[in-house]
Amino acid sequence: MRRNGVGRQVWRQSLFLPARVWATASAMTALAARIAFLLGIVAWYVIRYPFQRRARKMGVARSAGGTRDRVLLIIAALAQFLVPGIYGLTGWPSFADYRFSPVQAWAGVLAMVASLVLFRVTHKQLGRMWSVTLEMREQHKLVTDGLYAYVRHPMYSSFALFALAQFLLLQNWIAGPVGPIGFGILFFLRVSREERVMIETFGDDYRDYMRRTARIIPWIY
Ligand code: SAH
Repeated sequence: MRRNGVGRQVWRQSLFLPARVWATASAMTALAARIAFLLGIVAWYVIRYPFQRRARKMGVARSAGGTRDRVLLIIAALAQFLVPGIYGLTGWPSFADYRFSPVQAWAGVLAMVASLVLFRVTHKQLGRMWSVTLEMREQHKLVTDGLYAYVRHPMYSSFALFALAQFLLLQNWIAGPVGPIGFGILFFLRVSREERVMIETFGDDYRDYMRRTARIIPWIY
């Protein structure tokens, strides 16, 4: 077999793995990153849908959510779905785009996958105790196993990862940062209230549970 100079060079390069990986990574474009984010939103709904249907049929003993909880949910929906959704579909507002980095986008894909896996696992583990707004079920049981043995709010950890994925994938100064900001507003205005309602319901059981667990990052916060 005859090899000319160029052929040999190509052959050698094909064995030089990091360069190939690098080339593949660089092939990610801003459009592909936007599509990855939109697919993430679709997957989010597909995961949540069966749990939401089941939750509607469950008896509610006490609703602690109220208007405030609903306003928070609307803010989160605007920040994590509507604004980035419009950007994902149309590319608007394009004036706020910054230079696209494929490495950043791939980190965003990782964060998105981690978020969705966590989202599904927490729904399964919280089971019948889950609800969109703050609610206590009839015969509400405190879940303290699985992921709930490490953190009290693993579903909010998955929202945090989703917000991070949005920031990394949508390389735009408006559509990206609005995710973490919306998550921060929802999380900090909701979490203390949720813990207060849990203490009112479970008393010392929840206080002990709080002592053993972190909020959203195992052992850290
Ligand atoms: N903050 C949790 C759950 C979010 S869903 C998380 O991030 O994983 C919100 C509902 O879950 C609340 O209405 C509350 O009643 C219920 N909940 C929260 N923590 C719970 C636990 N450890 N056991 C049972 N129900 C819980």
